[in-house]
Amino acid sequence: MLAMNFRGPYRVRAAHKPDPCIEHPDDAVVRVLRSCICGSDLHLYHGLVPDTRIGTTFGHEFVGEVVDIGPGVRRLKKGDRVLVPFNIFCGSCFFCRRELFGNCHDTNPEATAVGGIYGYSHTAGGYDGGQAQLVRVPRADVGPTLIPPQMDLDDAVLLTDALPTGYQAAEMGDISEGDTVVVFGAGPIGIFAAKCAWLFGAGRVIVVDHIEERLEFVHRYAQCEVLNFRGVHDMAITIKRMTDGLGADVCIDAVGCEASGSFLQRLTGVKMKLQAGAATALHWAINSVRKGGNISIVGVYGPTFNAVPIGNAVNKGLTLRMNQASVKRHLPRLIEHIEAGHIEPRRIITHRIPLEEVADAYHLFSNKLDGCIKTVLIPPG
Ligand code: NAD
Ligand code: ZN
Repeated sequence: MLAMNFRGPYRVRAAHKPDPCIEHPDDAVVRVLRSCICGSDLHLYHGLVPDTRIGTTFGHEFVGEVVDIGPGVRRLKKGDRVLVPFNIFCGSCFFCRRELFGNCHDTNPEATAVGGIYGYSHTAGGYDGGQAQLVRVPRADVGPTLIPPQMDLDDAVLLTDALPTGYQAAEMGDISEGDTVVVFGAGPIGIFAAKCAWLFGAGRVIVVDHIEERLEFVHRYAQCEVLNFRGVHDMAITIKRMTDGLGADVCIDAVGCEASGSFLQRLTGVKMKLQAGAATALHWAINSVRKGGNISIVGVYGPTFNAVPIGNAVNKGLTLRMNQASVKRHLPRLIEHIEAGHIEPRRIITHRIPLEEVADAYHLFSNKLDGCIKTVLIPPG
C-alpha cells in the first residue's frame, strides 16, 4: 500500500509499505477514505516529539471502510464506514472508566502520561497512522464509531480530533455565563474552541493569531472578535485594555510548542538554549487571564520547559486544566450539533491533496501557505 513515511525532521514522503494485517483478535483493518494533517503532526514533522522513528506513518485523523476484522470483533463488520477517534483506548482500565480515554493505561503501558495514539511516535505507543491507504485499528470494538448515514465524510473526519478537541478546550475552561474567553491560535483547534465557547455560555470571544486569513475566517465562522499579535507590544496589557482592566476570565492555549523559540526570546530577552519549542501562547495566556481565572491547555508540548511563568499562575490563583482530548466522550453531543446545523465542521477544510503529494501537503500546512486552514489527504483508489 501507499503510505506517508517519515524520513526525519521536515522530510516526509509517500512510499510503499506492506499492507497492515490483523495482529490481534480485536483488530480491524480499515481502508482509508480521508485523512487529515493536524497541528499535532507538525510537532512530529518539526522533530519536537521524542522517539519519532524513521519509517513511521503519521495520521491520527481518518475515516474509512472496514475491510477485515479479527475473530474477537463483535460490533463491526466488513463494509462498515467508521470514524476513528485519534485515541487508541481499551474502554475498561482505571482511566477509561473515568472517560479519560486519552490517558488509557492499557494501550500504551510503558508511558506514564498519554495513552495510545495513531501515528504519533513510540512515545504514544508506536502505532502506525492513517495517512495511508490502509490502517490497522486495534481495539476495534471500542474506539471506532459508525458514521451516521447522512453525514458528509468531511464532517466525519473532523470528529476524529479537531472538533472534539476544540469542544474539550472550551469545556476545560469551565466558562461561566457571560465570561470573556480569549483563544490563542486560529488553527482548526482554536477555531473550534472559539465556536464551542459560545455553547458553554461565553459572553465574549476573542481569538489571537498573526495569520490574517485565519483571523478573517474565524471572525466569520465563530462570530468572534480577533486580535493580530503582530504589532502587539505587550499581550497582557492589550488584553487588559480590552477587558475593563481585569484580564480575560478564561484563556485557551490552542497553539502548543512552536517550531522556533524566537518569539519567547524576544519577549523575555533571554537567549534560549532551546531553539525550538517555545511556549509563547501559554506564557501570554497565564499573563492575560484575570486573577482567579481559568487556563485551558490543549496545545501539545513535545519538549520540557522551564520558561513558563508558573509563579504568576500561583500568585494569581489560576486554575489550569489540560489534556489530550477524550474524543469518544464528546461524539454523541457533537453529532447532534452537526445534525441540527449548529456547527458545520467541513467549512474549515481548505485543501484536498492526493496522498502521493504528502510532502507538498506538509510543507503547505507547516508554512500556512495559500490560505491553508485544514488539509485533507485523499488516498488513491
Ligand atoms: P495549527 O498549526 O494549524 O494552528 C496553530 C495556530 O497558532 C497557527 O495559526 C499559528 O499561527 C498560531 N500561533 C502560533 N503562535 C501563536 C501565539 N503565540 N499566539 C497565538 N497564536 C499563535 O494547529 P492546530 O491543528 O490548530 O492545533 C493547535 C494545537 O493543538 C497544536 O499544538 C496541536 O498539537 C494541539 N492539539 C491538541 C490536541 C489534544 O487532544 N490536546 C488535539 C489536536 C491538536
Ligand atoms: Zn490531531
